[in-house]
Amino acid sequence: MDSVFFAPTSMPSAEDSTVMGSRNGRNAISWRRSESGQNNDERAIASRPLKETLSSGQLSMSVVIPLLNEVDSLDDLYSRLKAALDQYAPNHEIIFVDDGSRDGSFDKLRGFWNEDPCVSVISFRRNFGKAAALNAGFQRVRGDIVMIMDADLQDQPEEMPRLIDKMDEGYDLVTGWKFKRHDPIHKTLPSKLFNGTVSRYFNIKIHDFNCGFKIMRASVAKDITLYGDMHRFIPVLAADRGYRVAECVIEHAPRVHGVSKYGAKRLITGLLDFLSTVMTTRFLNKPMQFFGGFGLLTSFLGVLVGLYLLVETLLGAGGHIRPLWVVMAVLILGGIQLICMGLLAELLVNVTNRREMSGAVREVLRNHDAHSDEIGERMAAV
Ligand code: UDP
Ligand code: MG
Repeated sequence: MDSVFFAPTSMPSAEDSTVMGSRNGRNAISWRRSESGQNNDERAIASRPLKETLSSGQLSMSVVIPLLNEVDSLDDLYSRLKAALDQYAPNHEIIFVDDGSRDGSFDKLRGFWNEDPCVSVISFRRNFGKAAALNAGFQRVRGDIVMIMDADLQDQPEEMPRLIDKMDEGYDLVTGWKFKRHDPIHKTLPSKLFNGTVSRYFNIKIHDFNCGFKIMRASVAKDITLYGDMHRFIPVLAADRGYRVAECVIEHAPRVHGVSKYGAKRLITGLLDFLSTVMTTRFLNKPMQFFGGFGLLTSFLGVLVGLYLLVETLLGAGGHIRPLWVVMAVLILGGIQLICMGLLAELLVNVTNRREMSGAVREVLRNHDAHSDEIGERMAAV
């Protein structure tokens, strides 16, 4: 079936994207291990280094590449990535997500798709942003391991084994650290500030949260939802879900073709997204602690101002209308409003959160005893 088809997707909506999948109903890749003896297979695979199981094709890799107007980099990117994948992960798929390019990138991608059954292309109707592009890719990955990288070749596909080795130390997500960054100072300085703040606040020892080069287990990609500019917070979102996160130094090359898609505006959006991330990670299930904390503090300040005015009145110095009365009223009423917002948010959480925390369980090891009906269930040691 050599055709373009629409695939259901939650964000952006189905109408916003076109997907090219594998042709002729065939899968170029043997994604699933055989059913029989699967348990034993899994145990054997788990005991071998990840690099070995990927390069032998026992485990598969999905590469997701978001791009916006990168036509001049695509040939080079594809050939270098393909060579690296053939060597380190022959059982692979490459998912290009064209985020509304207007420079012919899509036609170039269609060429790759025509030639290579491992290539899929998702095309957005307009530019929705890198986070939405990654999200669309994550929804469709079929590999055991997911790698993401930028399309501008600032990340080197040949460095894939470094990330794989680091992951083998027992991590679920490894993010690149552009130790020597080839970007202008107006990008590197705000970036340092951003990384320092995020690392300190969330207590995650990572220097480069926003690096486009990352590798993760498929469960991580499936478990996080990206929107807005949340791609900058992937390690935070993963760590918040309990995944083990690490970083690994990588080479960073200067951009050769095209221009950066992010300007000074990202300072403001970065700050706002930081607040959103704080809210959706730390306070997602306890919004009252956020709103209530501010509310109590504000009301307390209002009461202090009120006490001061009362003492003043008792001493005979007050009595007349002063702006401080208004300040007291605003503080107390504002505080009560914040507490009420917290209560409303708690109601929302309660209504929407009645199911089991999805993704909370890392692993369940179960042994079925054929001679008794007992099922021994042991949670894997953390
Ligand atoms: N990108 C995207 N959608 C956007 C902006 C960027 O898919 O709205 C892609 C872009 O094509 C590149 C990656 O995200 O593949 C990183 O963007 P860029 O290189 O401009 O960021 P920088 O390296 O300058 O921070
Ligand atoms: Mg770049």
